[in-house]
Amino acid sequence: MPPQFCIYRREPLGPETVRAHIIPQCLGGRLHSRTICCNDCNNAISPLENDLCKALRAPSAALRARDAENQPIRAEMEADGKTYDYADGLGNQRLPAPKYEDGELVFPLPGDADKLAEVIAYQLWSHHKKPAALDTDTIRIEPDRTFHIKPHPPERKMLFSELKVGTDAHMRVVVKMALELLAYVRPDDARRWDVLRPARLYVRDGVDDGKLPARFDASDGAGLFRADEVPQLAHAVEVWTHRQNLHYRVTFFGGLHITGSLSTRWNGPAFSIGHALDPQQPSRNVTKNTESDGPALGVYHPEVKKQAWDKFEEWFMARTLEISKEVTSRPWQAPGEPDLAALRPVIEEKFAALLKRKRQPRPKKRKPKA
Ligand SMILES: [Zn+2]
Repeated sequence: MPPQFCIYRREPLGPETVRAHIIPQCLGGRLHSRTICCNDCNNAISPLENDLCKALRAPSAALRARDAENQPIRAEMEADGKTYDYADGLGNQRLPAPKYEDGELVFPLPGDADKLAEVIAYQLWSHHKKPAALDTDTIRIEPDRTFHIKPHPPERKMLFSELKVGTDAHMRVVVKMALELLAYVRPDDARRWDVLRPARLYVRDGVDDGKLPARFDASDGAGLFRADEVPQLAHAVEVWTHRQNLHYRVTFFGGLHITGSLSTRWNGPAFSIGHALDPQQPSRNVTKNTESDGPALGVYHPEVKKQAWDKFEEWFMARTLEISKEVTSRPWQAPGEPDLAALRPVIEEKFAALLKRKRQPRPKKRKPKA
């Protein structure tokens, strides 16, 4: 029978205990268990996870990453005063607002036929018109040539103004991922209460005794997975013993490593465990589990953090450009005059769906033109 106590504060676990995810779901984590932590602890940690996910949202959207439900991770990014909605590796500039011109409704259109029908249906609906209005002269639909909606690749300045990882909250989530992978694979070892006390208190309550380093690591060596064993942009958690130490390494996007020790006076058996997932395809994952010590951690000095970041930035930008080049090289055509006759059935359908969901707004009284 699995242990019936929370790994953080030993509260009893029961049938009402909800799932704890080892890697947060918003980063694609699907590995979970109801026998790790109590609901109180789960709720206490969840805002920290949201914080980390928020910090990683822009790079996730730029790198075509998906969440645990395999939905594209979306981010709003700004560059040169324009707003882009990013997902699946590229951004669409946000459509400007519709306007009235001489009694006609004018609005910009996206390129894709289905989205086109959706925008037309939505504009009709929100301006209190019916699809039949398309047959009269009260609506003019025209492609807006000034509006450049070709998919936009992510830019360095967009990504790195957003990418701020390494706050105390982020580091607590990193240690949590390590501790909970241990609890998932080796439930009894995760309940060595005394030796894991500093790690537990750090994750649960933010108590930092200064002996529990979580730090950025520029070396590619100090971990269990070899680079060729995991997906290129993997999120990974590795935990292993090395003599009296219990080390861990957490990796984001295959290139950003954070290492540290859960304990420096380990009194349990030797082991090496790892779990990695592909954020572009969260169902793809790799695991490792052996009964032997792993490597020592590299020597740490303050310069390492900067080195780690510089190296990660280069790696990250190169991957991002590869992906956006692939995406933006697909044929793209500026939208022309929409074929309303062909689109009409889809417009009617989208319009009906809107009406079903929400009552159509009343027409707004517009001031007469001066
Ligand atoms: Zn608890």
